[in-house]
Amino acid sequence: MAATRTFSIIKPDATRRNLTGAVTKMLEDAGLRVVASKRIQMSREQAEGFYDVHRERPFFGELVDFMISGPVVVQVLEGENAVKANRDVMGATNPADADEGTIRKTYAESIEANSVHGSDSEENAANEIKFFFNDDELVG
Ligand code: GDP
Repeated sequence: MAATRTFSIIKPDATRRNLTGAVTKMLEDAGLRVVASKRIQMSREQAEGFYDVHRERPFFGELVDFMISGPVVVQVLEGENAVKANRDVMGATNPADADEGTIRKTYAESIEANSVHGSDSEENAANEIKFFFNDDELVG
């Protein structure tokens, strides 16, 4: 099966606790390869645009405040069935519901500060990659 790509964010709760390497190791151990990566401070406008689908949710404002509360690491991950492989190793949104051995079970602080984002479909992955990366930044 051909390799596909997905988009990942290591969120501010994880960068604050110096867990960039630990989270990346779990992604790599799950068979995913980091083909692009950069540490950025998201602007409010970027965070609002990225989470536009959640604009009507009651937690939208808090979520945006959280995502700009510190640096994040945006990454493009490649591997077999990358979207599913990443969602599987991330675990459930709420760490209380996440399976043992997942990133969120291991590291997340709360349903909001849950350490990682991962695209939920190949279509969203393509759009999210374009949101943060130019083609020449995907170096393989
Ligand atoms: P994901 O695909 O597992 O990240 O989950 P969603 O797309 O449903 O939610 C996006 C992000 O919003 C989550 O990763 C959390 O950071 C945050 N979030 C989701 N549900 C809640 C909630 O009930 N309260 C708060 N404060 N944040 C939430």
